[in-house]
Amino acid sequence: MLCRCLECGQIFDSDDIRHGSEYAGEAWGAPAYRSYEGSPCCDADFVDAKQCKICGSYEGLEGNEDYCKECKKDVSARLDKLLDRIKSEYKEEFDEAEREYLAECDYDWGALDGALVAAVEDEKNA
Ligand SMILES: [Zn+2]
Ligand SMILES: [Zn+2]
Repeated sequence: MLCRCLECGQIFDSDDIRHGSEYAGEAWGAPAYRSYEGSPCCDADFVDAKQCKICGSYEGLEGNEDYCKECKKDVSARLDKLLDRIKSEYKEEFDEAEREYLAECDYDWGALDGALVAAVEDEKNA
């Protein structure tokens, strides 16, 4: 199992967890020690490392998120590109006179947005 250091973010194997004991004052006149576990890099607290659901990477995940920074950026950029493609295809599909007509008629443009939102909602409900 892999863990992530909360101090520096490094990923390490749970086999490498540092087991130590620290002085915890005196008890009944004898020194008392408390055992603890720490990351091998910083001797700090750590959590189970999460894996990006898209690329499987353990790096670049923030907080409790399921997707790494790179994938989030990539997927959003591709959505933007798709929207650009739709825009340019719109201009190829319809000539100027047709586009003028579409601009004047009361076509429900929100339906375009709606189609995309519906696809996302389908995924949420799946
Ligand atoms: Zn560390
Ligand atoms: Zn990823």
